[in-house]
Order: sequence, then C-alpha cells, then structure tokens
Amino acid sequence: MTGNHEKLIGLDLAGSDKRPSGICFLQGNQANVFIINTDEEILRAIGDHAQTVAIDAPLSLPKGRCCLRDGCDCSGKAHFRLCDLELRKLKIKFFPITLGPMRKLTLRGMALKNKLEANGLRVFETYPGAAQDIWGIPRQKDLQGLKRGLKRFRLQGNWLRPEVTKDELDALTCALVAREELRGNAMAIGDPEEGLMILPKLTHRRERRERRVSLEFRKPKIKI
Ligand SMILES: [Zn+2]
Repeated sequence: MTGNHEKLIGLDLAGSDKRPSGICFLQGNQANVFIINTDEEILRAIGDHAQTVAIDAPLSLPKGRCCLRDGCDCSGKAHFRLCDLELRKLKIKFFPITLGPMRKLTLRGMALKNKLEANGLRVFETYPGAAQDIWGIPRQKDLQGLKRGLKRFRLQGNWLRPEVTKDELDALTCALVAREELRGNAMAIGDPEEGLMILPKLTHRRERRERRVSLEFRKPKIKI
C-alpha cells in the first residue's frame, strides 16, 4: 500500500483570515489538526516538505471568466465550472463560486495555490462535503456523526480530542482525500483545462444508484 509515509495536508480554507481555517497533517495513521488564520501562518505551517496539499476552496474560475468582479465584461458569462456541473449531476450540494462569500474564498484559494506551487508543492481542490456524501457519513452540521464516521479510517492523533471543531474535521477529510488519491482510490471531475476537483471514487452502491438515475433520465418520454 502506498501513501502511508507521505506527509499529506488537508486545508479547510475560510474566505477571510478573520475566520478560522482548519488544517490537518496526515502521516501514516497520525492525523493532527489545528485552527489557523492568516496565509502567512498557513504557508509557514505547511513548509515545503509535504507531498500534497488538498484544499477545500475553489481553485479555478469558470471558462470565460477572467475575474469575479461584477463590473467586468466577463461577469454573467459563466457561473459554473464543469466540475461544479458534475457535482450537481451527482446530486451533491454545493455553493456556486460566483455567490457573494464564495468569491472571496475562491480568490484567496487561487492566490494560496500559486504560492504553495511556487514552493514546489502539489496542490489540488477537493470538497469535504462531497467526500463525506460519497463515503456515506454525515457532514459537519452533525459534528458528532461526522467524527464517528471518520473513525472508520482508524487514525490516531489529536483529532480525537472532544473539542475538535468542524473546520478541523473538514481539514482531516481533505487530507484523507489526498491519501485516497495517492492510493488510486480517487476520481477527478471537471475539465483539466479549467480546473479539476478530486474526490474519492464512488462506492459501488452509489455508482449503481447514479447509473440508475442517469438511465431513468435518458428514458424517452412516450406520449400515449
Ligand atoms: Zn473579468
């Protein structure tokens, strides 16, 4: 099994450095999580020795957009990336990146990605809510349920402490997606030229359900 000795990082990024971001360091079966605020703190904490940084934030713009400003000619041209549309097809709930607070998060995420890549790190976008849906475990709204669900990965570390926060558990989820990706258990959705999102592979049960749904969708409507 590969991926056990790599240092993997999950980052649940907030739209602003006034709000807490969660960060997780995963190595072997040790997962340690922290709350962190500014980009400088994040860059310092990550350093340049990690294998992969998986970030919960949009890290690309929809094709046709040069920015997210309202006054620009590009505004109103596209609200979704292909990966967002594919999420929708999977019936996974998300916020469009052109929505108010998501704009700040997207800009912060893209800038941070550039800085991390300049330090030689591999960075990808993921979405813990989608990963949790795919694994069939609760999202952060049910904090204790999410924590119980994540215990199936049998990780040690400070994430088990009672006062762990939702941001830290989402960061841990991001780091687990990075590990699944390293082990070949992940899928990339979206357009590589636009921006990909990495998620755990669909479970067989979910895959069967999706196939059924898409077949029903294609069934021609016959008028009698
Ligand atoms: Zn623009």
